[in-house]
Formats: sequence, structure tokens, C-alpha cells
Amino acid sequence: VTASLALVLVGAELVEGRRTDGNGAWLAREVAAAGVRLVAWEVVSDEPREIARAVRAAAARASLVIVSGGLGPTPDDRTREGLALAAGVPLEHDEGAWRAIQAELSRRGREAHPLQRSQALVPRGGAWLANPAGIAPGLALSVGDAEVLAFPGVPIEFRSLFEREARPRLVALPGRVETALVSLATAGVPETEILLRLGDLAASAEPSVGWYPHHGEVEVTITAHGPGARERAADAARTARARLGACVLDVEPGERLEHAVVRALLAARLRVATAESLTGGLVARMLTRVPGASAVIPAGFVTYSDEAKARDLGVPAALLLQRGAVSAEVAAAMAEGARLRAGTDCALSTTGVAGPGDLAAPDGAPLPAGTAFIAVSIAGRAPVGERLLVPLDRELVQRRVAVAALDLLRRNLLPLRPEGR
Ligand code: ATP
Ligand code: MG
Repeated sequence: VTASLALVLVGAELVEGRRTDGNGAWLAREVAAAGVRLVAWEVVSDEPREIARAVRAAAARASLVIVSGGLGPTPDDRTREGLALAAGVPLEHDEGAWRAIQAELSRRGREAHPLQRSQALVPRGGAWLANPAGIAPGLALSVGDAEVLAFPGVPIEFRSLFEREARPRLVALPGRVETALVSLATAGVPETEILLRLGDLAASAEPSVGWYPHHGEVEVTITAHGPGARERAADAARTARARLGACVLDVEPGERLEHAVVRALLAARLRVATAESLTGGLVARMLTRVPGASAVIPAGFVTYSDEAKARDLGVPAALLLQRGAVSAEVAAAMAEGARLRAGTDCALSTTGVAGPGDLAAPDGAPLPAGTAFIAVSIAGRAPVGERLLVPLDRELVQRRVAVAALDLLRRNLLPLRPEGR
């Protein structure tokens, strides 16, 4: 047997796309990491019959079922009714649950409203579960051979109840398979190139490799199952790292390119300035997301017009006229200007055609939407730059170009690192 779990997400807002699910995605990760298989995942509206049908179907497939949402006091919260219907039992007032609700409310200086009595209803034979993060109690009951746990949909409440009530049951399920996942963040290399570099590793079934592109960054995951999974995943990750080379970012789990750039700047004791046209401040925004950014980025310039490029960065007016703002020469001059004006060791720049319309250079050469020039200037070195063509819509062009500029800086900082890693 393989340990298995099924999930039912309740909420009209989820079915109609007004809210994006977070609980299911979070739970799926926790469940996979615990070595349990999530065999079914259904999203249903707040309709007792629908909830009952989904819970029965889930209970037929897994020995443990988790239900998210619909336990609040408002008339659109109908998970209790759905659960009672699924188990074929009536709902009964539970005095213990009611006292717990009143106690939680009075702790917050509030009084219970009669509406909230509905939250003290428990399907006969079931139990209420204390909510460490909110008012609405969770519920536990049997449906067929399965144990069903229902938690409020508010993410913090869902997670607290999961930790308290579901995790102990999850790890006690027979047939769990040890699972280990290592994630490598990469930038600057397309997924097909990553596939080629990984070689036979990419085709391996155990450990298995997955890659998830995200606007110029690609997350590579290595997953191993069974006894010794941790060691095998770590081994495969070492091989992958060696084969992928410098595109693998030096980051902690959950971190991205901007974290790697800030880390590289801190390690080399360098400060950077940004000179942005096409990206309108996005590069500065990405860098300043990272805790500790104040030590590495004292200033950023958003220079959208030719006039601003000349005034704030000292880009020569003649260069803007002859080459045009969307050119390798202006990108380089922007980066050098930002570095000098901000008094930093290095700077990066972006300029281009965000679209949707196309442009032309002063010499008539076409500049289709998505054309961009990026440059990096480091003190004592000649500026380096790249021409990009990103045929996507405006926001994605900006995102891709920002990522490319940050990665150009990262790659040019690599040899400057003290330990030369
Ligand atoms: P409450 O006591 O707060 O009413 P509840 O169990 O009734 O809890 P819901 O009414 O379904 O929960 O949802 C409460 C909030 O949590 C809503 O803002 C809802 O959009 C959000 N929510 C519900 N389900 C999910 C989910 N799967 N992922 C992320 N957020 C969710
Ligand atoms: Mg709801």
C-alpha cells in the first residue's frame, strides 16, 4: 500500500476564479515532502450537495481526507452541512465548541453574535477541533472508511490546524515513501540548454528531474524516493550543479536572481547603481526586495526620456541623436553615467522598445517591439552589453529584460568574488 490523502477545496470564489487557491498548493508540497501521495484534488462551490459528493468521492480513494474552507458564520459557509450530508448524520449543537467560540471572541474583546452559533454545529459522531489561529473550529468525522478533517479556509488558520491535527495523522499513515527534493535556481540559460547540459540525468526516472521556467529563470528540481532518498538526491544535485556551471545561482531555498546578485555584491564589497529606461525602475525594485539591499544599492535612476538620459546620466546629446536612445552605445553610456553620478563601483542599464508599437533607429534600422539593450559598467573595465529580442507583451518584456540585466551583472561579478567561486 502507498499512503494516500485526498483534498477538497470549498469556495465559490475559487471555482469562479475570483481567488487563487493557496491552501491546496501549500498542502500538496507538505504532503509530498512527507512521502504521502495526494491522489485527488477537487474544487467545489459552497453547495452542501456538491460538498457531500466531493467528500464521499475523496473518502472512497484515500484513508485521510482534508477539506478546506466554508466553516465561517455567514450563510454562504456550508461545509458543515455538506459533511453531515456526506456522513448521513444530522448536525447537532455542541456546547463545548460554543463555549470555545465565546472564549476566543471575549479574548478579542468581542461578544458572540447569535449568527455564530452555527459554527458550534457538529455532525453527530464527529468532533470539533480547536482553532489556534482564529474563531471557527475545525471538524473531524468518519465518512465510510476514511477520516475526514475540515479546516477553515483562511490560510493561517488552515496551516495551523494542518500542523496540529493533520500532520500527526499523516506521518502515522502506513506505506509512506521517504522523499527528498533538492531545488537549483538558475538564470540566463534557456530550458532546452539546461536539458542538454544535464545529459543522462534529465532522462533518469529515479531520481527524477523537473524544470520550471519563470521569465528567464529556470528552477531545476531533483526528487528521489525510497530508502536513502536524501543521499541520492544530494548526489544527483552535485552532478547537476557541476554540469550546469555558472548559471546555477548561489541562493537559499525560495530565493531568486536578485538575492544572488545582492549576495555577490556583498561578497565582493561592491555597490551598484541602476539606470533604467525600458524597465521603469523594475531592476531597482527587484534589488531592493532583498533584505540588506541598502548596503549595495545607494541609488537608481529612471530616465525615460532622452532629456532625462542627458540631464541625469550625462549621456551625450549627440550620441542620443546619432545612435538613438535604443542602442548599445546609449546603454553603455547610461551605465557609465549612473556609476559616475552615484559614485558606485558598478552600474547596470536597460533601454529598449517595450511595445506594442515598433520603432526605428536614426539610421532607419528597424527596432521591433521587444528589442532591448542592456549594459554593465564596472570601474576600471570597459562596459559590456547585450542586445535582446523578447517578443512578448509589455510587462513580460520588462520582466525578461530586468532579469537579463541582473544576470549580466551577476556573471560579470563572478570572477571578482574573493574565493573565485
Ligand atoms: P471564516 O471563519 O474566516 O469564514 P471559512 O472556513 O469560512 O473561514 P472561507 O469563508 O471559505 O473560510 O474563506 C475565508 C477566506 O480565506 C476568504 O478570503 C477566502 O478567499 C480565503 N480562502 C478560502 N479558501 C482558500 C484557499 N484554498 N486558498 C487561499 N485562500 C482561501
Ligand atoms: Mg467561504
